[in-house]
Amino acid sequence: MNKKTPAICVFCGSSEGGDPRFAAAAKRLGELIAARGFSLVFGGGGPGLMGVAARAVRDGGAPILGVMPDFLRGIEKPPEWEKELIITPDLQQRKTRMLAFADAFVVLPGGPGTMDEFFEVVTSAQLGVFAKPIVVVDVAGYFEPLHALMRHLVKHGFAKPAMLKLYATVDTPEAAIETVAAKLSLGTDR
Ligand code: AMP
Repeated sequence: MNKKTPAICVFCGSSEGGDPRFAAAAKRLGELIAARGFSLVFGGGGPGLMGVAARAVRDGGAPILGVMPDFLRGIEKPPEWEKELIITPDLQQRKTRMLAFADAFVVLPGGPGTMDEFFEVVTSAQLGVFAKPIVVVDVAGYFEPLHALMRHLVKHGFAKPAMLKLYATVDTPEAAIETVAAKLSLGTDR
């Protein structure tokens, strides 16, 4: 993958969820990643929102890098058109590679794996391991319980208020891309 192309790592469900707005947002995000000159880093699988977003990036002609642990190849089957796929020995190394390849993270609705990935990047940012932009796309209010949990942690003294500023929350894929571009200082033409 061309390292000059800034890579957005998308964390999202390996299912599509129960609201069609989730898949619509994943498709739109993928379209915008390609249209605005980014590349995609993702979990490598074809099912769910992951596959929806990746197909949209592919259709837009942008580079895609999938990162998948060996044991998941039969479960979250990579699409046959996926050209760049890194196979890791386990989930931990998958995350390590995704974090290393990404210039920014965008989180779409998803399940426990997506939440794990969200906390991985936020806790890493909190400890100063990296300072890459993190943007949550709160499609149809899906992430309100997560935000309530984050505020709860702060209220009870288990996290500093600054943690809430380590990630941005937006309502749309358009706003997510604008936020990433602004945080990476890429200008408005991207
Ligand atoms: P989910 O949001 O549960 O549908 O999962 C989204 C992605 O997260 C899938 O590709 C899962 O394989 C992945 N995932 C689940 N658990 C973990 C974990 N502990 N570490 C890294 N990735 C995970």
